[in-house]
Amino acid sequence: MHEMSLAVGILEIIEEAARVQKFRRVMTVEVEIGRLAAVEAEAIGFCFSAVTRGTLAEGARLQIVHVEGRGLCFNCHQTVPLAALYDPCPACGGHPVQATGGTEMRVKELEVE
Ligand SMILES: [Zn+2]
Repeated sequence: MHEMSLAVGILEIIEEAARVQKFRRVMTVEVEIGRLAAVEAEAIGFCFSAVTRGTLAEGARLQIVHVEGRGLCFNCHQTVPLAALYDPCPACGGHPVQATGGTEMRVKELEVE
C-alpha cells in the first residue's frame, strides 16, 4: 500500500526532527497533501496510527492540509489551477499542462512536547 510507505516516511521525518530538536513526544503532525498527489487522507491517517504505535508519535493527531493543484500550460504559458493530472488547461483548453504544485506530500509542522 502506497499510503503505508508514506506513513513510514512521515515517522522517519519525525524521528529525525526529534534527534535534532530533542523532543520526546509529538502531539500533532501537520501534513500537506497535494490534490494531485493521489494520497487518500483517510488511509494515511489509518497507516500513520499503525506505524507510530510504540514510538514517540503514538497517539499523535495527524492534521491534513490539502494543497490545490497548479500547472503550467505549454499552450498559453499561464499558471493555471489543475484539478487532476492530464486535465486540459482551464484557461485555453490546450495541452499539455505540466503540474507545478500540489503533487507532493510533506510534513509542515510538528507540535511537540
Ligand atoms: Zn492554456
